[in-house]
Amino acid sequence: MSSSKRMETKLIHAGEMRPRVGGAVNLPIFQSATFEYGGEDDYHDIRYIRLNNTPNHIVLGEKLAAIESAESGLVAASGMAIISTTLLSILRNGDHILLQDCLYGGTHDFVTKDLPGLGIDYDFIDGSDPASWEKKIRKQTKAIYVEAIANPLMDVPELAAVVEFARANKIISIIDNTFASPINFRPAELGFDLSLHSCTKYLNGHSDIVAGACIGKAALVKDVKRKLNHLGGTMDPHAAFLLHRGMKTLSLRVKHQNESAQKIAEYLEKHADIGAVNYPGLESHSSHARAAKWFDGFGGMLSFELKDQDADKTDEFLKALQLPICAPSLGGVESLITRPATTSHLGLSKEDRKKIGISDSLVRFSTGIEATEDLIEDFEQALKKISAKVAR
Ligand SMILES: *Cc1c(COP(=O)(O)O)cnc(C)c1O
Repeated sequence: MSSSKRMETKLIHAGEMRPRVGGAVNLPIFQSATFEYGGEDDYHDIRYIRLNNTPNHIVLGEKLAAIESAESGLVAASGMAIISTTLLSILRNGDHILLQDCLYGGTHDFVTKDLPGLGIDYDFIDGSDPASWEKKIRKQTKAIYVEAIANPLMDVPELAAVVEFARANKIISIIDNTFASPINFRPAELGFDLSLHSCTKYLNGHSDIVAGACIGKAALVKDVKRKLNHLGGTMDPHAAFLLHRGMKTLSLRVKHQNESAQKIAEYLEKHADIGAVNYPGLESHSSHARAAKWFDGFGGMLSFELKDQDADKTDEFLKALQLPICAPSLGGVESLITRPATTSHLGLSKEDRKKIGISDSLVRFSTGIEATEDLIEDFEQALKKISAKVAR
């Protein structure tokens, strides 16, 4: 399929097998561990599920590459499978990596607890202050790693500076693009070498599988695939089928979520009982200008605090909500709400959380595809309920 087609068309048609298998409109699930030997002369080309080369894997990889305007794509068993495998394919004993300081919890844990044991060193950088990065680079530095939108304050790093810095220093630029999704940001278009996703979130969009993807320069993706073949974090064909099905509606879902999150953020920002609201689509957000420059939409994730910042009252508020489900994860069709101090950032001490701006009363909201008005009415009734309680 011509790569000039638009996003919505690529989501449906890019990468699909031609001719269709048995004429089926949908790609079947190839539930076969092994395939007939076809004269392959490289171990990695033998057709076997763990070697990530069944039709289900190949079609998804090509579709992902097409929607992010990149050379190559690869799927894996989970976001963490692709993140750990990618880092292990690039870094060796003695190497060093620079990473943004507010990483996804699992990535932070992997980097700080597992990499040192392999002789791999790291330094954290402030993603919004490129002038400070030069001081931390070393002869051994192999890569710079950031997240498109960082959890839970929704900060966007200086993305163009990351690409320039990587080029100037001949190191690999890697971005976790999970929160933005390919609808709002396509890292390869800005020059990133590799884009990683937890497809568990927006790409699948239905909170029913875990999955991961690596998209970018063909030579690098090939190395990641070889490492994935060895480490074995392979996507199951049935999960591949669900991801493929979920991706077809990615654009419809994310565009609705962009719009809905913007309206909810504006509603919350005006509400007398609400304190700070963190959403890149708000002009008050410190990353607004950066997000507006590089993104096609501001995403479905926002966070906020009640004005009096009381953790118990915040829990009462979460209990009073009838629509959003109180659960970790994000990017699904249903709205989810959490208090990061009790979920994603439970691993940090109260002081460490405070240092990075995460109070115990901070609430993170993942906008689903419910009617925006119903979500706002639900916030309204829950806020009324808790303020009535306090007044009594
Ligand atoms: C969820 C998430 C991950 C990890 O993905 P899994 O699919 O849970 O392994 C990595 N990065 C970000 C930004 C995430 O939100």
